[in-house]
Amino acid sequence: MTVRTRIAPSPTGAPHIGTAYIALFNRVFAKHHGGQFILRIEDTDQVRSTAESEQAILTALRWLGLDWDEGPDVGGAHGPYRQSERSALYQDHAMQLVTSGHAYPCFCSAERLATLRRQQEENQERIGYDGHCADIAAAEAARRVAAGEAHVIRLRTPCEGICSIQDRFRGEIEIGWETVDDQILIKGDGFPTYHLANVVDDHLMEITHVIRGEEWIPSAPKHLLLYEAFGWEAPELAHLPLLRNPDKSKLSKRKNPTGILYYRQAGFLPEAICNYLGQMAYRPEGDLEIFDMETMVAGFDLGRVSLGGPVFDIEKLRALNGHYIRQLSAGDLLGRLRHWLLHDESLLGLVGMAQPRLEQLADFVPMTAYMFADQVSLDAAAIDQAGTASGKAAEWIQFVQWEFERLASWDAEGIRGCLQRVATCEEVKFKKFLGVFFRVCSGRAAALPLFESLAWLGRDMTLRRLQYGQDVLREAGVGLSKKALKRLEKSYRERYVEEGGKDG
Ligand code: GLU
Repeated sequence: MTVRTRIAPSPTGAPHIGTAYIALFNRVFAKHHGGQFILRIEDTDQVRSTAESEQAILTALRWLGLDWDEGPDVGGAHGPYRQSERSALYQDHAMQLVTSGHAYPCFCSAERLATLRRQQEENQERIGYDGHCADIAAAEAARRVAAGEAHVIRLRTPCEGICSIQDRFRGEIEIGWETVDDQILIKGDGFPTYHLANVVDDHLMEITHVIRGEEWIPSAPKHLLLYEAFGWEAPELAHLPLLRNPDKSKLSKRKNPTGILYYRQAGFLPEAICNYLGQMAYRPEGDLEIFDMETMVAGFDLGRVSLGGPVFDIEKLRALNGHYIRQLSAGDLLGRLRHWLLHDESLLGLVGMAQPRLEQLADFVPMTAYMFADQVSLDAAAIDQAGTASGKAAEWIQFVQWEFERLASWDAEGIRGCLQRVATCEEVKFKKFLGVFFRVCSGRAAALPLFESLAWLGRDMTLRRLQYGQDVLREAGVGLSKKALKRLEKSYRERYVEEGGKDG
């Protein structure tokens, strides 16, 4: 048997450090066995998936050295590797399950489901589908589908008994079927959900081992049921422990930078990141702490994977990164610096912004120094002052953070659009509003043109600086409390976000 593993990211945002961690273990395991590592793009959520996010994922993983044998850009014998190009396959497979009785069309309206949910909440019952359409006779259901009645396709799930999952790291995991919903397989818009597409693809792409994060354990019963319904052998499952913040909560961008491209922009070395991500759940023979990917591949053993909640501590990563930097020869280090941000393309961007402001060439380095920094030094009073001391700076920054996260294409025009939108919604003069962002992103009162410089910094570094601004405001007692953040999130959703589909 050839070992085949995969990483299956959804292109719905900045490439996440957690994706790199899972990709690393999948790649190392496949390579150790002389097998193949596949990249599959799970873009079944048509509303949230973007081409830019997909491109960023490819760039980020490749930068880390986590390259793949088959994928949307390199091709392979099991393509296409983008789920949006495989729609007909999922339709066919869902129809097979309807014919065999393992799945059924469900005609329940959104209103009925909302009422059901409300009742379940009121009665403190388990929230889930009540099987209303499960018993409609097949011929009757087929007639309604043929007549064009709106419907989804649901998986018929047992109401009782135990689902036993064999996990390579955890042994047997038992989940009661009564906790598992009749999962939607095909949505009203005809697109598959994560569960169906994931299982069909893992089978057709001949994936032998699914190594993924522990947050997917509750999905395993649905997947095993699907394999059984299709009459397919399921791949081996192995769920890695989730990365955590130093306070042990789930790794989150509010407490830790999570964007891989932030780490690139901040000058972390790919080999240090891979080493650190490897350490999160693994030590090679001899309990080594410093090891490269080749060492990991050579001796990899699933039995040595540890499950204790791994803490991703950026200070420890920084120390490890320093170690790797010190190992480089001066010539290599210079090469790294050039590759980092001192190459022509990056410098040309800065030169263009600086030129109208330069009187001497010697002004260039001090004028642009903050663009190369990780954190800029910030002062809460100056940020607040820039926002005309309204005490609103933290709220404005937060709205802009959310807008920036959702911006489909990261360029000066899009950035300006986000800032303008929030200024208008918050009824602030644009110039005053921008003052806050000049401050937070540069640490200075006067700086290079804002929209272009944020485009140059990249989305992840910009978000990092805004988050740092939040931290500084909070420490000074003028930031957002947890409660205020919750309230703001609600207000943001109501005022800025149109309803969109959501899916794993
Ligand atoms: N698309 C899922 C994700 O974004 C894949 C999960 C899996 O590995 O099955 O993580």
